[in-house]
Amino acid sequence: MSAIETTSLTRRYGRTLALRGLDLRIERGEIFGFVGPNGAGKTTTLRLLAGLLEPTSGEIQLLGERLDTRGRVAQRLVGYMPDFFGVYDDLRVWEYLDFWARCYDLPKFKRRSTVDGLLDLVDLAPKRDALVQTLSRGMQQRLCLAHALVHDPPILLLDEPASGLDPRARVELRELLLALREMGKTILLSSHILSELAEVCSSLGIIQGGKLLASGSLEEVRRQLGAGSRLRIAVRAKASTAVAVVRATPGAGGIVLDQDGHHDMSGPSADRLIEDLADGPTTLLVDWSGDDDGASSLLARLVAASVPVRTFADERNDLEDLFLQLTAAEPEDGEDGPPESRT
Ligand code: ATP
Repeated sequence: MSAIETTSLTRRYGRTLALRGLDLRIERGEIFGFVGPNGAGKTTTLRLLAGLLEPTSGEIQLLGERLDTRGRVAQRLVGYMPDFFGVYDDLRVWEYLDFWARCYDLPKFKRRSTVDGLLDLVDLAPKRDALVQTLSRGMQQRLCLAHALVHDPPILLLDEPASGLDPRARVELRELLLALREMGKTILLSSHILSELAEVCSSLGIIQGGKLLASGSLEEVRRQLGAGSRLRIAVRAKASTAVAVVRATPGAGGIVLDQDGHHDMSGPSADRLIEDLADGPTTLLVDWSGDDDGASSLLARLVAASVPVRTFADERNDLEDLFLQLTAAEPEDGEDGPPESRT
């Protein structure tokens, strides 16, 4: 049974079609990154899953339970952290969480231990008595996460949790997410920056114009989007032999030489360039569409040809480029129409 499953999920706002038949499946225990540009439909999806919006058509199941129109299933199973959260004036940190614990009808004897446990978890225990509005953005973010956890839901939906955080706060957030995963939570978090998610997520979905372009593990997404990787091969000598071996290997595409800037090695002048460099240390950047076994055998062939290989690494950051190209290709909105107020 999946943690989250949507079938042909569609949502309209007036004449704007924000989601177009979304089929999403997220297994239990995943940290699922939901990536898409502004207006792609991420917030709409999260709000539907949290039971805060009703679908125009389609179905949602959380842990095998179909979402009811009164939102009770979602309320019980989901902790939701919105992308924008208000600051609660004149409330202390513990009071803020205690307030939400009361809203979830936690009995008094349980409230204190729940609040203290959550403050420990999100590393805010030293700020227990501080006023909420005096917390930094990162701390407020963590407090909001604690709020989403008050009723100990198995599913967490976090809308753009990393936006506005400095690098250190991002690292802390990542550690917190991993700790929550260890506790058995399934986490869906959205972002419009792919690289922000790639390092923490166990699977990804890419959404654009209300449609899912790809989903699965990072590798599966790369395959579905037709993204190859790039091999960085640094050799101490014998560049021409290395290029010949690479060229003869299935899966290898264009070769770029990374020395004194970039030189395109696939053009007619490539061979002369290689001759000039044949004896010196050189780095080759190779477009790679093969699999991991193919990469291993390329390395074995280089070694067998006595090429002194210093570095052999897979560079996968071109997925971000591909994502940017894909998401730049379509306009943001489905159709125009009178806006409904956001509730
Ligand atoms: P962002 O990254 O900017 O938050 P998003 O991926 O979360 O974007 P949504 O907020 O879900 O995208 O918006 C999807 C589409 O639905 C957009 O075209 C948006 O303009 C439209 N939309 C969202 N909420 C409303 C609303 N209340 N009334 C009308 N249109 C809306």
